[in-house]
Amino acid sequence: METQESYSGTCFCGAVEVTATGAPAAMGYCHCDSCRTWSASPVNAFTLWKPESIRVTRGADNLATFNKTSRSYRKWCKSCGGHLFTDHPHWGLIDVYAATIPTYRHQPQVHVNYAETVLPMKDGLPKMKDLPKEMGGSGETLPEERSVALEMELG
Ligand SMILES: [Zn+2]
Ligand SMILES: [Zn+2]
Repeated sequence: METQESYSGTCFCGAVEVTATGAPAAMGYCHCDSCRTWSASPVNAFTLWKPESIRVTRGADNLATFNKTSRSYRKWCKSCGGHLFTDHPHWGLIDVYAATIPTYRHQPQVHVNYAETVLPMKDGLPKMKDLPKEMGGSGETLPEERSVALEMELG
C-alpha cells in the first residue's frame, strides 16, 4: 500500500495540532472580505482538502468554532486565539490555511473573489471574479490589471 505524505501544523501557542494527509483538492488565494477580516490579512492562502484527509492530532478539546454562516465553520484555539482551518460542509471541503501547515509547499492555481481584492497580485494565475461555477460562483474571470485600474480610479 502506498504511504501518503502527512503535513502537520499548530495554532500560535501549539496547543492544537492539525494534520493533513495526501494532497489537497485545490489551492489558491481568496481575496474576499470575510477571509480578510477573519485572518486579519489582505488575502487568505487556502488549501482545500477532503474531510477524511484532515485530523486534529492534538488538543481537539481546545478547538472552538465560529460560524457566521452555515457555509463556513471557522476553527480556532481557545488558548491563543490562533486560527487553524475552516470547514465548508456544503462543498465537502476543509480549508487548512496554507500558513497552518508550513511543511506543505503552497502551489496556488487560482485567485478567487478577486472582485473584492485590496491587494492585486500580478502572477499570471487566473483571477476569478467570485468562485468557479462548480463551487456555486459565476465562473467569470477578471483581467489582472482591472482591479488595479479600479483602485487608481477610486484614488
Ligand atoms: Zn493555541
Ligand atoms: Zn474568502
